[in-house]
Amino acid sequence: MNELIGQLRASLGPGVVLEGPDAQARTHSASGRPLGAPIAVLMPASTRDVSTILRLCHAARQPIVPWGGMTGLVDGCLADGALALSLQRMNRIEEVDPLGATMTVEAGCVLQTVCDVANANGLFFPLDLGARGSATIGGNIATNAGGNRVIRYGMTRDMVLGLEVVLADGTVLSSLNRLIKNNAGYDLKQIFIGSEGTLGIVTRAVLRLRPQPVSQNIAFAAVDAFDRLPRFLRHMERTLGGMLSAFEVMWEDFYMLVTTAPAKGRPPIPHGHPYYVLVEALGGDQADDSARFERALTAALEDGELVDAVIAKSQAERDQMWALRDDVVQLVRNFPIFIFDVSLCIADMEEYVADIRHALAERWPRSTLVVFGHLGDGNLHVIAGVGDASAEARHTVESIVYGALRERGGSISAEHGIGLEKRPYLGWSRGVEEIALMRRLKQMLDPANILNPGKVLAP
Ligand code: ZN
Repeated sequence: MNELIGQLRASLGPGVVLEGPDAQARTHSASGRPLGAPIAVLMPASTRDVSTILRLCHAARQPIVPWGGMTGLVDGCLADGALALSLQRMNRIEEVDPLGATMTVEAGCVLQTVCDVANANGLFFPLDLGARGSATIGGNIATNAGGNRVIRYGMTRDMVLGLEVVLADGTVLSSLNRLIKNNAGYDLKQIFIGSEGTLGIVTRAVLRLRPQPVSQNIAFAAVDAFDRLPRFLRHMERTLGGMLSAFEVMWEDFYMLVTTAPAKGRPPIPHGHPYYVLVEALGGDQADDSARFERALTAALEDGELVDAVIAKSQAERDQMWALRDDVVQLVRNFPIFIFDVSLCIADMEEYVADIRHALAERWPRSTLVVFGHLGDGNLHVIAGVGDASAEARHTVESIVYGALRERGGSISAEHGIGLEKRPYLGWSRGVEEIALMRRLKQMLDPANILNPGKVLAP
Protein backbone atom coordinates (compact mmCIF):
# COMPACT_ATOMS: atom_id res chain seq x y z
CA MET A 1 0.00 0.00 0.00
CA ASN A 2 2.77 2.45 0.96
CA GLU A 3 4.39 1.72 -2.38
CA LEU A 4 1.20 2.62 -4.28
CA ILE A 5 0.73 5.82 -2.23
CA GLY A 6 4.36 6.69 -3.03
CA GLN A 7 3.77 6.13 -6.75
CA LEU A 8 0.59 8.24 -6.64
CA ARG A 9 2.41 11.06 -4.82
CA ALA A 10 5.28 10.97 -7.31
CA SER A 11 2.99 10.94 -10.37
CA LEU A 12 0.42 13.55 -9.27
CA GLY A 13 0.75 17.21 -8.32
CA PRO A 14 0.78 18.46 -4.71
CA GLY A 15 -2.53 18.41 -2.87
CA VAL A 16 -3.93 15.38 -4.72
CA VAL A 17 -3.18 12.63 -2.19
CA LEU A 18 -4.65 13.37 1.25
CA GLU A 19 -3.86 11.10 4.19
CA GLY A 20 -4.19 11.18 7.96
CA PRO A 21 -6.33 13.96 9.47
CA ASP A 22 -6.88 15.60 6.04
CA ALA A 23 -8.49 12.42 4.76
CA GLN A 24 -10.35 11.60 7.96
CA ALA A 25 -12.06 14.99 8.16
CA ARG A 26 -14.99 13.54 6.24
CA THR A 27 -16.32 10.46 7.95
CA HIS A 28 -20.00 11.24 7.30
CA SER A 29 -21.93 12.81 4.45
CA ALA A 30 -23.87 16.06 5.02
CA SER A 31 -27.00 14.00 5.66
CA GLY A 32 -25.18 11.95 8.30
CA ARG A 33 -24.58 8.74 6.38
CA PRO A 34 -21.24 7.07 7.13
CA LEU A 35 -18.57 7.23 4.43
CA GLY A 36 -16.32 4.58 5.97
CA ALA A 37 -12.60 4.91 6.61
CA PRO A 38 -10.72 5.26 3.31
CA ILE A 39 -6.96 4.68 3.28
CA ALA A 40 -6.54 8.06 1.58
CA VAL A 41 -8.65 10.59 -0.29
CA LEU A 42 -7.50 11.48 -3.81
CA MET A 43 -8.44 14.91 -5.18
CA PRO A 44 -7.54 14.92 -8.91
CA ALA A 45 -7.55 18.24 -10.77
CA SER A 46 -7.89 16.85 -14.31
CA THR A 47 -8.94 13.86 -16.40
CA ARG A 48 -5.25 13.14 -16.79
CA ASP A 49 -4.89 12.82 -13.00
CA VAL A 50 -7.87 10.44 -12.89
CA SER A 51 -6.34 8.37 -15.67
CA THR A 52 -2.99 8.19 -13.82
CA ILE A 53 -4.74 7.17 -10.59
CA LEU A 54 -6.71 4.39 -12.25
CA ARG A 55 -3.72 3.08 -14.20
CA LEU A 56 -1.69 2.74 -10.99
CA CYS A 57 -4.59 1.32 -8.96
CA HIS A 58 -5.40 -1.16 -11.70
CA ALA A 59 -1.81 -2.42 -11.71
CA ALA A 60 -1.87 -2.68 -7.89
CA ARG A 61 -5.42 -4.17 -7.75
CA GLN A 62 -6.39 -1.37 -5.38
CA PRO A 63 -10.15 -0.65 -4.90
CA ILE A 64 -11.32 2.92 -5.59
CA VAL A 65 -14.62 4.50 -4.47
CA PRO A 66 -15.70 7.62 -6.41
CA TRP A 67 -17.14 10.52 -4.39
CA GLY A 68 -19.34 13.25 -5.83
CA GLY A 69 -21.48 15.39 -3.48
CA MET A 70 -22.15 12.31 -1.30
CA THR A 71 -25.88 13.03 -1.11
CA GLY A 72 -26.92 9.49 -2.11
CA LEU A 73 -29.12 7.41 0.17
CA VAL A 74 -27.94 3.84 -0.49
CA ASP A 75 -24.35 3.81 0.87
CA GLY A 76 -22.80 3.98 -2.61
CA CYS A 77 -19.95 6.16 -1.22
CA LEU A 78 -18.91 3.82 1.60
CA ALA A 79 -15.12 3.60 1.19
CA ASP A 80 -13.85 1.34 4.00
CA GLY A 81 -10.32 0.17 3.22
CA ALA A 82 -10.43 1.70 -0.27
CA LEU A 83 -9.01 4.85 -1.83
CA ALA A 84 -11.71 7.52 -2.11
CA LEU A 85 -11.62 9.45 -5.39
CA SER A 86 -13.25 12.86 -4.90
CA LEU A 87 -14.08 14.77 -8.10
CA GLN A 88 -14.69 17.94 -6.08
CA ARG A 89 -11.81 19.93 -7.58
CA MET A 90 -12.89 19.16 -11.14
CA ASN A 91 -15.70 21.69 -11.08
CA ARG A 92 -15.19 23.85 -14.16
CA ILE A 93 -17.95 24.80 -16.55
CA GLU A 94 -15.99 24.60 -19.79
CA GLU A 95 -18.44 25.87 -22.36
CA VAL A 96 -22.02 26.99 -22.88
CA ASP A 97 -23.35 26.88 -26.44
CA PRO A 98 -26.55 28.95 -26.42
CA LEU A 99 -27.45 28.15 -30.04
CA GLY A 100 -26.88 24.42 -29.76
CA ALA A 101 -28.33 24.54 -26.20
CA THR A 102 -25.52 22.47 -24.67
CA MET A 103 -23.17 22.90 -21.72
CA THR A 104 -19.86 21.10 -21.30
CA VAL A 105 -18.89 20.59 -17.65
CA GLU A 106 -16.49 18.72 -15.42
CA ALA A 107 -18.00 16.04 -13.21
CA GLY A 108 -17.46 17.87 -9.91
CA CYS A 109 -19.74 20.81 -10.81
CA VAL A 110 -22.49 21.27 -8.23
CA LEU A 111 -25.97 20.81 -9.73
CA GLN A 112 -27.16 24.21 -8.50
CA THR A 113 -24.23 25.88 -10.30
CA VAL A 114 -25.10 24.12 -13.54
CA CYS A 115 -28.72 25.33 -13.23
CA ASP A 116 -27.63 28.91 -12.38
CA VAL A 117 -25.22 29.10 -15.34
CA ALA A 118 -27.91 27.75 -17.69
CA ASN A 119 -30.33 30.43 -16.41
CA ALA A 120 -27.73 33.16 -16.85
CA ASN A 121 -27.52 32.12 -20.50
CA GLY A 122 -31.30 32.22 -20.98
CA LEU A 123 -31.53 28.42 -20.88
CA PHE A 124 -32.70 25.77 -18.45
CA PHE A 125 -31.20 22.57 -17.02
CA PRO A 126 -34.30 20.75 -15.74
CA LEU A 127 -32.83 18.30 -13.20
CA ASP A 128 -34.38 19.32 -9.87
CA LEU A 129 -33.88 17.59 -6.54
CA GLY A 130 -33.65 18.46 -2.86
CA ALA A 131 -29.85 18.00 -2.68
CA ARG A 132 -29.24 20.45 -5.56
CA GLY A 133 -26.88 22.60 -3.45
CA SER A 134 -24.34 19.81 -2.81
CA ALA A 135 -25.00 17.02 -5.34
CA THR A 136 -22.53 17.06 -8.25
CA ILE A 137 -23.41 16.51 -11.87
CA GLY A 138 -21.00 13.56 -12.02
CA GLY A 139 -22.86 11.91 -9.14
CA ASN A 140 -26.21 12.71 -10.76
CA ILE A 141 -24.99 10.99 -13.94
CA ALA A 142 -23.43 8.03 -12.13
CA THR A 143 -26.75 7.42 -10.34
CA ASN A 144 -29.11 8.54 -13.15
CA ALA A 145 -30.82 10.89 -10.68
CA GLY A 146 -34.55 11.58 -11.12
CA GLY A 147 -36.26 14.23 -9.00
CA ASN A 148 -39.28 16.45 -9.36
CA ARG A 149 -39.65 17.11 -13.09
CA VAL A 150 -39.11 13.67 -14.62
CA ILE A 151 -42.68 13.66 -15.91
CA ARG A 152 -41.74 16.44 -18.34
CA TYR A 153 -37.99 16.16 -18.95
CA GLY A 154 -37.05 12.58 -18.09
CA MET A 155 -34.26 11.37 -15.78
CA THR A 156 -30.60 12.48 -15.92
CA ARG A 157 -30.08 9.95 -18.74
CA ASP A 158 -32.31 12.09 -20.95
CA MET A 159 -30.30 15.25 -20.26
CA VAL A 160 -26.84 13.92 -21.22
CA LEU A 161 -25.61 14.07 -24.81
CA GLY A 162 -22.00 13.06 -24.32
CA LEU A 163 -19.60 11.78 -21.68
CA GLU A 164 -15.92 11.45 -21.00
CA VAL A 165 -15.24 8.40 -18.85
CA VAL A 166 -12.01 6.98 -17.47
CA LEU A 167 -12.04 3.20 -17.61
CA ALA A 168 -10.67 0.92 -14.90
CA ASP A 169 -7.24 0.58 -16.56
CA GLY A 170 -6.87 4.36 -17.03
CA THR A 171 -8.03 4.51 -20.67
CA VAL A 172 -9.85 7.79 -21.36
CA LEU A 173 -13.03 7.15 -23.35
CA SER A 174 -13.96 10.45 -24.96
CA SER A 175 -17.55 10.29 -26.11
CA LEU A 176 -18.33 14.01 -25.84
CA ASN A 177 -21.12 13.93 -28.41
CA ARG A 178 -23.18 17.14 -28.85
CA LEU A 179 -25.77 15.78 -31.25
CA ILE A 180 -29.31 14.92 -30.25
CA LYS A 181 -29.49 12.26 -32.94
CA ASN A 182 -26.50 9.95 -33.25
CA ASN A 183 -27.16 6.31 -34.09
CA ALA A 184 -23.61 5.54 -35.23
CA GLY A 185 -23.25 2.28 -33.36
CA TYR A 186 -23.92 1.52 -29.67
CA ASP A 187 -24.69 4.46 -27.40
CA LEU A 188 -21.79 3.79 -25.02
CA LYS A 189 -22.56 6.62 -22.58
CA GLN A 190 -25.74 4.83 -21.48
CA ILE A 191 -23.68 1.95 -20.05
CA PHE A 192 -22.05 4.33 -17.59
CA ILE A 193 -25.09 6.46 -16.71
CA GLY A 194 -26.64 4.89 -13.61
CA SER A 195 -23.76 2.43 -13.11
CA GLU A 196 -22.93 3.99 -9.69
CA GLY A 197 -19.20 4.22 -10.37
CA THR A 198 -18.80 0.48 -10.90
CA LEU A 199 -17.97 0.54 -14.63
CA GLY A 200 -15.97 3.73 -15.11
CA ILE A 201 -15.37 7.21 -13.66
CA VAL A 202 -17.32 10.03 -15.31
CA THR A 203 -14.99 13.04 -15.69
CA ARG A 204 -16.78 15.38 -18.15
CA ALA A 205 -20.19 15.65 -19.73
CA VAL A 206 -22.06 17.47 -22.47
CA LEU A 207 -25.49 18.37 -21.06
CA ARG A 208 -28.60 19.07 -23.06
CA LEU A 209 -30.21 22.37 -22.10
CA ARG A 210 -33.83 23.42 -22.67
CA PRO A 211 -35.57 26.72 -23.30
CA GLN A 212 -35.99 28.68 -20.09
CA PRO A 213 -39.67 28.58 -19.06
CA VAL A 214 -41.37 31.98 -19.04
CA SER A 215 -44.38 31.01 -16.96
CA GLN A 216 -44.72 28.89 -13.83
CA ASN A 217 -48.16 27.97 -12.50
CA ILE A 218 -48.60 25.92 -9.34
CA ALA A 219 -51.64 24.68 -7.48
CA PHE A 220 -52.40 22.49 -4.50
CA ALA A 221 -55.40 20.21 -4.91
CA ALA A 222 -57.26 17.86 -2.57
CA VAL A 223 -58.53 14.53 -3.87
CA ASP A 224 -60.87 12.26 -1.90
CA ALA A 225 -60.31 8.88 -3.57
CA PHE A 226 -57.21 7.26 -5.00
CA ASP A 227 -58.79 6.30 -8.32
CA ARG A 228 -59.38 10.00 -9.04
CA LEU A 229 -55.62 10.73 -8.91
CA PRO A 230 -54.67 9.08 -12.24
CA ARG A 231 -57.79 10.58 -13.85
CA PHE A 232 -56.76 14.03 -12.63
CA LEU A 233 -53.20 13.41 -13.86
CA ARG A 234 -54.28 12.38 -17.35
CA HIS A 235 -56.73 15.29 -17.50
CA MET A 236 -53.96 17.79 -16.69
CA GLU A 237 -51.54 16.19 -19.17
CA ARG A 238 -54.13 16.35 -21.93
CA THR A 239 -55.42 19.84 -21.18
CA LEU A 240 -52.04 21.47 -20.62
CA GLY A 241 -50.60 20.15 -23.88
CA GLY A 242 -47.09 19.24 -22.70
CA MET A 243 -46.72 22.01 -20.07
CA LEU A 244 -47.25 19.73 -17.05
CA SER A 245 -43.90 19.61 -15.23
CA ALA A 246 -44.70 18.12 -11.82
CA PHE A 247 -47.47 16.02 -10.31
CA GLU A 248 -46.45 15.37 -6.72
CA VAL A 249 -48.83 13.45 -4.51
CA MET A 250 -48.80 13.55 -0.71
CA TRP A 251 -50.74 11.05 1.36
CA GLU A 252 -52.56 12.67 4.30
CA ASP A 253 -49.88 11.69 6.88
CA PHE A 254 -47.21 13.52 4.90
CA TYR A 255 -49.39 16.62 4.47
CA MET A 256 -50.18 16.72 8.21
CA LEU A 257 -46.49 16.44 9.07
CA VAL A 258 -45.37 19.36 6.86
CA THR A 259 -48.29 21.69 7.65
CA THR A 260 -48.46 21.31 11.44
CA ALA A 261 -46.08 22.81 14.04
CA PRO A 262 -43.18 22.42 14.61
CA ALA A 263 -43.05 22.45 10.76
CA LYS A 264 -43.02 26.03 9.46
CA GLY A 265 -45.43 25.34 6.59
CA ARG A 266 -49.13 26.18 6.79
CA PRO A 267 -51.84 24.22 4.95
CA PRO A 268 -52.84 25.84 1.62
CA ILE A 269 -55.93 23.57 1.74
CA PRO A 270 -57.64 22.55 5.01
CA HIS A 271 -56.75 19.20 6.57
CA GLY A 272 -59.09 16.22 6.31
CA HIS A 273 -58.55 14.82 2.81
CA PRO A 274 -56.77 11.54 2.02
CA TYR A 275 -54.62 12.90 -0.84
CA TYR A 276 -53.07 16.22 -1.78
CA VAL A 277 -51.41 17.04 -5.08
CA LEU A 278 -48.90 19.72 -6.04
CA VAL A 279 -49.36 20.40 -9.76
CA GLU A 280 -46.93 22.56 -11.72
CA ALA A 281 -46.95 23.73 -15.32
CA LEU A 282 -44.06 25.50 -17.06
CA GLY A 283 -44.80 27.36 -20.28
CA GLY A 284 -43.97 30.20 -22.60
CA ASP A 285 -46.53 32.94 -21.86
CA GLN A 286 -47.61 33.94 -18.35
CA ALA A 287 -51.06 35.42 -19.17
CA ASP A 288 -52.15 32.69 -21.59
CA ASP A 289 -50.73 29.87 -19.49
CA SER A 290 -52.31 31.09 -16.23
CA ALA A 291 -55.74 31.25 -17.87
CA ARG A 292 -55.31 27.77 -19.33
CA PHE A 293 -54.07 26.35 -16.01
CA GLU A 294 -57.07 27.79 -14.17
CA ARG A 295 -59.49 26.44 -16.80
CA ALA A 296 -57.92 22.98 -16.50
CA LEU A 297 -58.31 22.97 -12.70
CA THR A 298 -61.87 24.32 -12.86
CA ALA A 299 -62.83 21.54 -15.28
CA ALA A 300 -61.29 18.94 -12.93
CA LEU A 301 -63.30 20.38 -10.01
CA GLU A 302 -66.52 20.36 -12.05
CA ASP A 303 -65.91 16.77 -13.12
CA GLY A 304 -65.48 15.76 -9.49
CA GLU A 305 -61.84 14.69 -9.84
CA LEU A 306 -60.92 17.24 -7.16
CA VAL A 307 -62.71 18.40 -4.05
CA ASP A 308 -60.68 21.56 -3.53
CA ALA A 309 -57.87 23.47 -5.21
CA VAL A 310 -55.87 26.64 -4.61
CA ILE A 311 -53.60 28.34 -7.14
CA ALA A 312 -50.48 30.17 -5.96
CA LYS A 313 -50.85 33.88 -6.73
CA SER A 314 -47.28 35.08 -6.31
CA GLN A 315 -43.72 33.82 -6.49
CA ALA A 316 -43.69 33.70 -2.69
CA GLU A 317 -46.77 31.44 -2.68
CA ARG A 318 -45.29 29.23 -5.39
CA ASP A 319 -42.10 28.87 -3.37
CA GLN A 320 -44.12 28.08 -0.21
CA MET A 321 -45.97 25.27 -2.00
CA TRP A 322 -42.73 23.70 -3.21
CA ALA A 323 -41.26 24.17 0.28
CA LEU A 324 -44.03 21.94 1.70
CA ARG A 325 -43.19 19.16 -0.74
CA ASP A 326 -39.45 19.59 -0.07
CA ASP A 327 -39.75 19.71 3.74
CA VAL A 328 -38.55 16.14 4.16
CA VAL A 329 -36.67 17.00 7.38
CA GLN A 330 -40.06 16.70 9.15
CA LEU A 331 -39.94 12.99 8.37
CA VAL A 332 -37.01 12.35 10.70
CA ARG A 333 -39.05 13.58 13.66
CA ASN A 334 -40.26 10.00 14.05
CA PHE A 335 -36.70 8.72 14.08
CA PRO A 336 -35.66 5.93 13.66
CA ILE A 337 -37.07 5.56 10.17
CA PHE A 338 -36.45 3.46 7.10
CA ILE A 339 -36.58 5.26 3.74
CA PHE A 340 -37.73 3.56 0.54
CA ASP A 341 -37.83 4.68 -3.08
CA VAL A 342 -40.03 2.36 -5.09
CA SER A 343 -41.66 2.28 -8.50
CA LEU A 344 -44.85 0.54 -9.56
CA CYS A 345 -47.86 0.89 -11.84
CA ILE A 346 -50.28 3.58 -10.69
CA ALA A 347 -53.11 1.02 -10.89
CA ASP A 348 -51.41 -1.03 -8.12
CA MET A 349 -50.45 1.80 -5.77
CA GLU A 350 -53.51 2.13 -3.55
CA GLU A 351 -53.61 -1.57 -2.70
CA TYR A 352 -49.82 -1.72 -2.32
CA VAL A 353 -49.76 1.07 0.27
CA ALA A 354 -52.74 -0.45 2.13
CA ASP A 355 -51.03 -3.88 2.19
CA ILE A 356 -47.74 -2.66 3.61
CA ARG A 357 -49.51 -0.40 6.13
CA HIS A 358 -51.50 -3.39 7.33
CA ALA A 359 -48.47 -5.72 7.49
CA LEU A 360 -46.39 -3.16 9.44
CA ALA A 361 -49.25 -2.48 11.90
CA GLU A 362 -49.68 -6.19 12.51
CA ARG A 363 -46.04 -6.54 13.51
CA TRP A 364 -45.67 -3.09 15.19
CA PRO A 365 -49.07 -1.69 16.29
CA ARG A 366 -47.58 1.80 16.78
CA SER A 367 -45.75 1.93 13.46
CA THR A 368 -46.02 4.97 11.19
CA LEU A 369 -46.04 5.03 7.43
CA VAL A 370 -45.62 8.27 5.51
CA VAL A 371 -46.06 8.16 1.74
CA PHE A 372 -45.46 10.77 -0.93
CA GLY A 373 -43.85 10.90 -4.31
CA HIS A 374 -43.74 11.57 -8.00
CA LEU A 375 -47.01 9.85 -8.87
CA GLY A 376 -46.83 10.86 -12.50
CA ASP A 377 -43.63 8.79 -12.77
CA GLY A 378 -45.00 5.84 -10.79
CA ASN A 379 -42.45 6.65 -8.06
CA LEU A 380 -43.32 6.61 -4.36
CA HIS A 381 -41.18 7.45 -1.36
CA VAL A 382 -42.29 5.33 1.57
CA ILE A 383 -41.04 6.20 5.06
CA ALA A 384 -41.62 3.58 7.71
CA GLY A 385 -41.08 4.18 11.43
CA VAL A 386 -41.35 1.18 13.75
CA GLY A 387 -39.52 2.53 16.81
CA ASP A 388 -36.65 0.10 16.28
CA ALA A 389 -33.50 0.71 14.22
CA SER A 390 -31.99 -2.77 14.62
CA ALA A 391 -30.77 -4.77 11.65
CA GLU A 392 -33.49 -7.31 12.36
CA ALA A 393 -36.24 -4.68 12.24
CA ARG A 394 -34.78 -3.28 9.05
CA HIS A 395 -34.80 -6.71 7.47
CA THR A 396 -38.43 -7.33 8.42
CA VAL A 397 -39.55 -3.90 7.15
CA GLU A 398 -37.62 -4.44 3.89
CA SER A 399 -39.23 -7.84 3.43
CA ILE A 400 -42.68 -6.27 3.83
CA VAL A 401 -42.06 -3.24 1.58
CA TYR A 402 -40.14 -5.08 -1.15
CA GLY A 403 -42.14 -8.31 -0.91
CA ALA A 404 -45.41 -6.52 -1.73
CA LEU A 405 -43.58 -4.84 -4.59
CA ARG A 406 -42.17 -8.04 -6.00
CA GLU A 407 -45.67 -9.53 -6.31
CA ARG A 408 -46.66 -6.53 -8.40
CA GLY A 409 -43.63 -6.35 -10.71
CA GLY A 410 -42.41 -3.08 -9.17
CA SER A 411 -38.86 -1.78 -8.80
CA ILE A 412 -36.96 -1.65 -5.48
CA SER A 413 -35.22 1.50 -6.74
CA ALA A 414 -36.95 4.18 -8.79
CA GLU A 415 -34.28 6.88 -8.54
CA HIS A 416 -31.88 6.26 -5.64
CA GLY A 417 -29.87 3.37 -7.11
CA ILE A 418 -28.77 0.13 -5.45
CA GLY A 419 -25.45 0.94 -3.72
CA LEU A 420 -24.87 -1.45 -0.84
CA GLU A 421 -28.18 -0.95 0.90
CA LYS A 422 -30.47 -2.48 -1.70
CA ARG A 423 -28.05 -5.04 -3.09
CA PRO A 424 -29.63 -8.06 -1.37
CA TYR A 425 -32.92 -7.29 -3.13
CA LEU A 426 -31.69 -6.65 -6.68
CA GLY A 427 -32.96 -10.08 -7.71
CA TRP A 428 -36.47 -9.11 -6.59
CA SER A 429 -36.66 -6.54 -9.41
CA ARG A 430 -34.31 -8.02 -12.02
CA GLY A 431 -34.25 -11.40 -13.72
CA VAL A 432 -31.46 -13.98 -13.46
CA GLU A 433 -30.42 -13.34 -17.07
CA GLU A 434 -30.36 -9.58 -16.53
CA ILE A 435 -28.11 -9.90 -13.48
CA ALA A 436 -25.86 -12.37 -15.34
CA LEU A 437 -25.38 -9.83 -18.15
CA MET A 438 -24.67 -7.08 -15.60
CA ARG A 439 -21.94 -9.31 -14.15
CA ARG A 440 -20.43 -9.94 -17.58
CA LEU A 441 -20.35 -6.19 -18.27
CA LYS A 442 -18.69 -5.58 -14.92
CA GLN A 443 -16.15 -8.35 -15.56
CA MET A 444 -15.32 -6.97 -19.02
CA LEU A 445 -14.98 -3.31 -18.02
CA ASP A 446 -13.39 -3.86 -14.61
CA PRO A 447 -11.65 -7.26 -14.63
CA ALA A 448 -9.65 -6.52 -11.45
CA ASN A 449 -12.83 -5.39 -9.62
CA ILE A 450 -11.35 -2.10 -8.38
CA LEU A 451 -14.23 0.30 -9.27
CA ASN A 452 -16.57 0.77 -6.30
CA PRO A 453 -16.33 -2.97 -5.62
CA GLY A 454 -19.30 -4.66 -3.98
CA LYS A 455 -21.75 -1.87 -4.91
CA VAL A 456 -24.80 -2.83 -7.03
CA LEU A 457 -23.57 -6.44 -7.52
CA ALA A 458 -22.38 -8.74 -4.74
CA PRO A 459 -18.75 -9.85 -5.26
ZN1 ZN B 1 -37.76 11.68 -5.20
